[in-house]
Amino acid sequence: MKLENKKVLITGSTSGIGLAIAKVFAKQNATVILNGLGTIDEIKTIIADLSSQTSAKVPVKVVHYDADLANPLAIQDMMNKVQKEHGGVDILINNAGIQYVSPIESFPKEKWDQIIALNLSSSFHTIQHCLPLMRQKGWGRIINIASTHGLVASPYKSAYVASKHGIVGLTKVVALETAEENITCNTICPGWVLTPLVEKQIKAKAEEGHKTIEEATYDLLAEKQPSLKFVNPENIGEFCLFLCSEAASQITGAALSMDGGWTVR
Ligand code: NAD
Repeated sequence: MKLENKKVLITGSTSGIGLAIAKVFAKQNATVILNGLGTIDEIKTIIADLSSQTSAKVPVKVVHYDADLANPLAIQDMMNKVQKEHGGVDILINNAGIQYVSPIESFPKEKWDQIIALNLSSSFHTIQHCLPLMRQKGWGRIINIASTHGLVASPYKSAYVASKHGIVGLTKVVALETAEENITCNTICPGWVLTPLVEKQIKAKAEEGHKTIEEATYDLLAEKQPSLKFVNPENIGEFCLFLCSEAASQITGAALSMDGGWTVR
């Protein structure tokens, strides 16, 4: 699928899953609008790498906005710039997210607020901003990256699980409000994907249990993911690409698992 005329905004795309999704869309020659944290040099390297992914003769257009998505005013500012500088987006992929693990009694209140703001509210704000233009153009794709934790829970992840269940609900409402238009809104619910977000959890597990990283990795997978394999982040990008295809035009409001069997146990 060639996407020369499409503009895709991927939040949290300077690392992990978001960066892998960006790569997949760059290969299809879409204009890639990145967002996420990173030093100037890191962002420059990412932009250069993505620009060269193209199969066309000219480099892919790749830009980056450093908005802190936990801040609604920063989101508004970024979305205004995206509209002014690129004429809005055709494909919106809400991916930015963070994790914090703690029993609920000691869960820091500021972490709760930060996780809800970034993992849930930021998607409300970006969707609210993008929809009018998608409606005007008569085409749009919204993909929210939730998690298996949008469907089931684990202890010590109250804010994360609440935010991801919220995303699944928000997706359904947006799907209903756009059902008669050529716009779809879906959630992808990945199981474990080996990114910095999960590496931190493996390290903590290894330290807690006095285990090697290999042992802690096995334990992490064995506890939840029957396939005993991580989900490949590029496969998530390819799934996003499929959701942008004509074949997926009647998939909307769905929470689509990609979890090696985690949620069928
Ligand atoms: P990651 O830590 O590798 O990447 C997170 C991205 O979000 C980075 O680009 C980071 O700069 C950006 N980010 C963080 N705080 C931000 C802020 N305030 N404003 C803007 N950007 C910010 O994590 P990942 O594993 O790639 O996770 C991406 C998404 O996938 C998250 O929503 C996460 O919940 C979800 N997810 C991850 C897994 C997994 O196993 N890794 C599984 C299911 C779902």
